[in-house]
Amino acid sequence: MTIHGTHTLRFLGTGASSGVPSFYCGCKACEEALHNPAARRGCAALLISGTQNTLIDADPDLRMQLSLARVKDIDQVLFTHEHFDHIGGIAEFEFYVRLRSHKPLPIYAGSFTLAAIASQFAFMEETLEPHRVEAWQSLEFDGVRYTALPATHGTQTFGFLIEKLGGEGTAESRRIAYFPDTGPLAPEVLEKLKGVEVLIIDATFNGRNWMPGVHHTIDEAVCLAQELRAKKTFLTHLTMHYDEPITAQELQELLAPHEGAILAANDGLEITL
Ligand SMILES: [Zn+2]
Ligand SMILES: [Zn+2]
Ligand SMILES: [Zn+2]
Repeated sequence: MTIHGTHTLRFLGTGASSGVPSFYCGCKACEEALHNPAARRGCAALLISGTQNTLIDADPDLRMQLSLARVKDIDQVLFTHEHFDHIGGIAEFEFYVRLRSHKPLPIYAGSFTLAAIASQFAFMEETLEPHRVEAWQSLEFDGVRYTALPATHGTQTFGFLIEKLGGEGTAESRRIAYFPDTGPLAPEVLEKLKGVEVLIIDATFNGRNWMPGVHHTIDEAVCLAQELRAKKTFLTHLTMHYDEPITAQELQELLAPHEGAILAANDGLEITL
């Protein structure tokens, strides 16, 4: 039986595209974040570290996020979709490849996302090694299986089911679902995620849903967590500004009745796989 060491999952960023604070805003959530670094949110990305480092999405705040995590090497990057808040940091790898790794960085994404990266970051052609991923396809890196599941968000967006592998390719421990950008999930995806140990889910809006069908509100994310009977849920991709600004402190109080089963993620938070 293959024994894989400890893997950690780090929330590099837990904000939506606007981040917290936003320079053009001045709401109470932004004020709180200006005064308290723990309330600041960069764009959403995850880092899974074992003997390798696997990144899910390369957001525009990536340079600072990886520096703070003291990460010097990235072995591969998986992408959920092609929106700028999920691919905008890929340019950080140009000099990483040229100065440190000296080999093209493997990236895994749907064909639509690969095409967007190729056209928007044409100067990266020599530094990236693209691999196409289809929905429901599983990939394995460093003893962890990543299954791309269809999300409801723009063209060909994935969420990932993350499973640490034990002997003979079987999932040995917790199943973690990561869906930073999604609206209501399709029935077959809900079926796959039922009873998942850790759900990390889009909770973009507070109050009114500005983009119903492609994002959740905090309330909708809580309902989904309950429907799936997820043992632990972390809300992510949080704008905190709109429709109704909510501070990190207020969000914590709002979620308190769930007694720790549903929490807001925060930048830098680490959990064990
Ligand atoms: Zn604000
Ligand atoms: Zn998006
Ligand atoms: Zn996003």
